Amino acid sequence: MLDEFIHEPRIAYFSMEIALRNEIPTYAGGLGVLAGDTVRSATDLELPMVAVSLVSRAGYFRQELDAQGRQREHPATWDPKRWAHPLDAKIAVQIEGRTVWIGAWLYVLEGHMGGRQPVLLLDTDLGENHIDDREITHYLYGGDNVYRFKQEIVLGLGGVRLLLALGFTIRHFHMNEGHSALLGLELMRRYTYATEELRPGESHYDLPRVRDLCSFTTHTPVESGHDRFPYDLVRRILDNGFDIEILKRLAGEESLNMTRLALNLSEYVNGVANKHAEVSNAMFPGYKVHAITNGVHPFIWTTENFRELYDHYLPGWCHEPQLLMRADCCIPDAAIWEAHVQAKQRLIDKMQTLAGVSLQPDIPIFGFARRMTAYKRPDLLFSDLERLKAIARHHPFQIVLAGKAHPQDENGKQLIEQLHAHARALAGTITVIYLPDYGMALAQTLTSGVDVWLNTPLPPFEASGTSGMKAAFNGVPNLSMLDGWWIEGCIEGVTGWAIGDAAGLADGNARVLYDKLEQVVLPLYFKDDHGGWIKVMKGAISKNASYFNSHRMMRRYATEAYSR
Ligand SMILES: *Cc1c(COP(=O)(O)O)cnc(C)c1O
Repeated sequence: MLDEFIHEPRIAYFSMEIALRNEIPTYAGGLGVLAGDTVRSATDLELPMVAVSLVSRAGYFRQELDAQGRQREHPATWDPKRWAHPLDAKIAVQIEGRTVWIGAWLYVLEGHMGGRQPVLLLDTDLGENHIDDREITHYLYGGDNVYRFKQEIVLGLGGVRLLLALGFTIRHFHMNEGHSALLGLELMRRYTYATEELRPGESHYDLPRVRDLCSFTTHTPVESGHDRFPYDLVRRILDNGFDIEILKRLAGEESLNMTRLALNLSEYVNGVANKHAEVSNAMFPGYKVHAITNGVHPFIWTTENFRELYDHYLPGWCHEPQLLMRADCCIPDAAIWEAHVQAKQRLIDKMQTLAGVSLQPDIPIFGFARRMTAYKRPDLLFSDLERLKAIARHHPFQIVLAGKAHPQDENGKQLIEQLHAHARALAGTITVIYLPDYGMALAQTLTSGVDVWLNTPLPPFEASGTSGMKAAFNGVPNLSMLDGWWIEGCIEGVTGWAIGDAAGLADGNARVLYDKLEQVVLPLYFKDDHGGWIKVMKGAISKNASYFNSHRMMRRYATEAYSR
């Protein structure tokens, strides 16, 4: 089963979460979708890779919402047998003084161009393990700090050991976020200077060699977002004979900071947008944080109608998305509009089925869907309901919302309830739908079927954001705060619109958003023949989709990070 994959050296891509397909709930949000798109692009570009993640049998969670918008979380249990093949090999790590055996499932990612790429999903649910340890790989982002640390031991130490036991030759290790940084400790254990060069009792890790082998992508622009583990916990749980004093030098004196560890063990470090790299450089003085702006996978995030259009007018776009830069001149307006009308109708049909609500095809739909958490400010649009209604009486519009709140994010859950209350208050004037259980399939329907993709994060907390890039592939313009990727993507009135200026508008004054809607966005939509609007749709395709795609992103990782 593995033979086709182990004959050539590969890049090992480690990620706590990965979005392989809608039916496999091993992802929570943007980080996992990015991991999936990374491997999908590597597959299409024939860049040999092996992805390593956890099997997360109980998934992240399935979200149920009652009429008040109260979130109930259910396990999103999936059956690995259905989609993946069990591998025979097993390796062991020591956790909390016990031997924990780790096996894996092989998921073969099949690209739409015929490529195949192995994904290993690590699993501790084995008969030989203590009952508690069998659960380590069950819940994605579930449990407490101890549980999380055990998962990170399985991912980092276990992942490297299993790869090598299976016969993989790894030419580079890529840590997608700090969760997998313990992989560096396993490499240190393997690469030491020859003992004859050392004085007795001294152990010298070959750090330059480890660093040469590793790259690290950070995704979090706030210190508190980085995993930290107190050393008493580390001493108790991590029992691999590792000298804590050396660990402190690499990962921080007060606590084991996974980001520090990853920074110190990687030759190449990057943030996920230019602004994010700038913020990260300020947060980590003494390190060089490069910028590789995220992208989304061209094929899976483009709806069928637009794929057909691009195939016809810009053949080859799927391998070289740069070709989309010609969309503004080479695709007739009527063809763009027709493809959009069909994608919008698909969304409308789906809303009818899922929510029993009829949306109007000739009234614009605004989409906002993402993780529901404070800095994303999903409530900004609803700051002044009277003003919003007044705008809608003049130029009607409809709103579709979706998103999960992390089970421990009480604030995020309250936001969902507030959004439901706003929807009730607006009933009769503005149709607002909140769809439960946001995932890949719903993201595909929403980002392709709405007329405007809205994003109102509080700068500088949006490291990149990727859903707006999915919209661009479908000719859907963004209306967004200037943060993350949109600082690079926005050309005012050409690819979409900014809310406020580059100074950031950190206080989030909703008035600027309302003014932009009332005076610029809606009047353009309703202007006679949609000619001006279609121009912006074409701007989004030719100037955003041509660049903010994961093929460009992977070509950069391949030449700048992996080839060191
Ligand atoms: C693309 C995507 C995201 C990322 O959304 P942003 O807020 O734009 O980063 C989150 N969840 C799902 C299911 C997605 O498909």
